[in-house]
Amino acid sequence: MWNIQIVKTNAPKAKPDSSALGFGKIFTDHMFMMEYEAGRGWINQRIVPFANLSLHPASTVLHYGSEIFEGLKAYRRADGKVQLFRPMENIRRMNNSAERLCLPQIPEDEALNILTTFVRTEQDWTPSAPGTSLYLRPFMFGNDESLGVHTVHHVEFLIIASPVGSYYKEGINPVKIMIEDEDVRAVRGGTGYAKCGGNYAASNRAGERAEQKGYSQVLWLDGVHRKYIEEVGAMNVMFKIGDEIVTPKLTGSILPGITRKSCIEILKKEGYTVHERLLSVEELSAAMENGTLEEAWGCGTAAVVSPIGELCYKDRKYTVNGGKIGKITQHLYDTLTGIQWGKTEDTFGWTYPI
Ligand SMILES: *Cc1c(COP(=O)(O)O)cnc(C)c1O
Repeated sequence: MWNIQIVKTNAPKAKPDSSALGFGKIFTDHMFMMEYEAGRGWINQRIVPFANLSLHPASTVLHYGSEIFEGLKAYRRADGKVQLFRPMENIRRMNNSAERLCLPQIPEDEALNILTTFVRTEQDWTPSAPGTSLYLRPFMFGNDESLGVHTVHHVEFLIIASPVGSYYKEGINPVKIMIEDEDVRAVRGGTGYAKCGGNYAASNRAGERAEQKGYSQVLWLDGVHRKYIEEVGAMNVMFKIGDEIVTPKLTGSILPGITRKSCIEILKKEGYTVHERLLSVEELSAAMENGTLEEAWGCGTAAVVSPIGELCYKDRKYTVNGGKIGKITQHLYDTLTGIQWGKTEDTFGWTYPI
């Protein structure tokens, strides 16, 4: 294992009140850092006091968007212990994202050791109020000090952590989603399956337009046919149409969510009919018109599951399940949060105590 040097802060911050958390605004006392140099590999593994970075103005990431990230949480269980949820999935996905962006991969066992060592150092920052957690943000960026366009030779990898509040402080309220038929998020052959900052930069315009019309996020269609449902903002999407649960299959332009994968595994284990397949917006509209669309929800680490109460397509508005959370959506929420916070038995072996 790599040696991780730990330099503790001599000015620890006061822990925030759990009612004041929000998302990603408060950061813990330390951060993990290491560098990569072509020919030398990953070097200088260290946990240091949280501080600003200093970058050369020609740093690759500032000009050519060479950046990937991950998002996962540490959860405080009732017995006081802290646990992660399927961390190896995040590590593997990060390496797949790195491969797509020509950034270096991190050996899986080293990445897991870094993550757990860092969480152990910061574990006192894991809040315990219901629905709260410690959000972990590993990220990597190209950092050559030159404007030439080429595969980078210098890379930074960091992990920062932020105690986050409950996503559902005012109860689980279904969201209104607009189906976007102009901008696209990703195309096959592009970076849709990679968790990279550039995907977000390019999707902000549609998100802003949807917000102006009173919608919280957009539902993306595929970039080739402008026809098949892909995913919502930062979440994957699932529908209950009649007796079938449908989620878009991973064609390369969709982010392979770990919450999506977990929902599929839970539902299949319980005997539901779940299909990962192409779902056209026409099929979805028909199901909304004839009343067979019973439930719709987004799924991702931040919100766990997020019921969709209204869908808008080409200025036509459809209410889903009377604008209320559906039975399966609620069941998935209860099951996943039960496992994550250690309230129900983890029969899948998904949790990873620190
Ligand atoms: C991170 C992310 C998701 C959800 O992935 P999880 O692993 O479930 O958190 C879905 N879509 C996009 C675009 C994402 O960036």
